[in-house]
Amino acid sequence: MLQMSVAHLQQICAHAQRTYPEECCGLLLGQLDLMTEQKKLVEVWETLNAWNSEVKEIMTSLISETSEKTDEPGQKSHAKSDRYWIDPKDLLAAQRHGRDRHLDIIGIYHSHPDHRAVPSECDRAMAWSRYSYLIISVDHGSAIDYRSWCLDDQHRFQSELLKVIEPSSL
Ligand SMILES: [Zn+2]
Repeated sequence: MLQMSVAHLQQICAHAQRTYPEECCGLLLGQLDLMTEQKKLVEVWETLNAWNSEVKEIMTSLISETSEKTDEPGQKSHAKSDRYWIDPKDLLAAQRHGRDRHLDIIGIYHSHPDHRAVPSECDRAMAWSRYSYLIISVDHGSAIDYRSWCLDDQHRFQSELLKVIEPSSL
C-alpha cells in the first residue's frame, strides 16, 4: 500500500501536465514499514526526464524483446513522449537529502502522455523490486488517472493499493 496526501498527488499531476507531451518523472521519498510493507510518501522529488539517445542504446541492448524494434512500420522511435530516465546523479541527490530526514526512496513516478496508467514492457524491465511505480495518465494535457504498481516475485507488475488522504490524517 502506498499512502500519500492530496497535495502530493496534486503536485505530481501538475508536474505531469507541465511536461506534456513528454513524460515527467520523479522520486517518491518516504518511509517504508518493513512489517506491513506499507509505504508513506513524505516528499515528492521532481527530476528531469534524462532520456536521450545514449540511454536508448543501452536500454535497447538490455531489453531484447520484439516490441523494441523501432524499424517496423507504424512504430515510433522512442523519445521522451514514451520513455523516461532518471539521471543517477538525481537519485544520489535525493538519497542524500533523505538521509538527514530519515527518508528513503520508496518509489518512482512518471507519466504516460495519451496512454493508460499501465506499465510498459520497458517500465517493467527497468523496475526495481520494493519500489512503488506510480503512473499518471495524461490525456490531451490533463491528468485523468493515476495508478500505483509493484513487482511480484516473478518480476511482474501487480496493482498496488493507493491511499490518498487529507493532510490532517497523516
Ligand atoms: Zn511508462
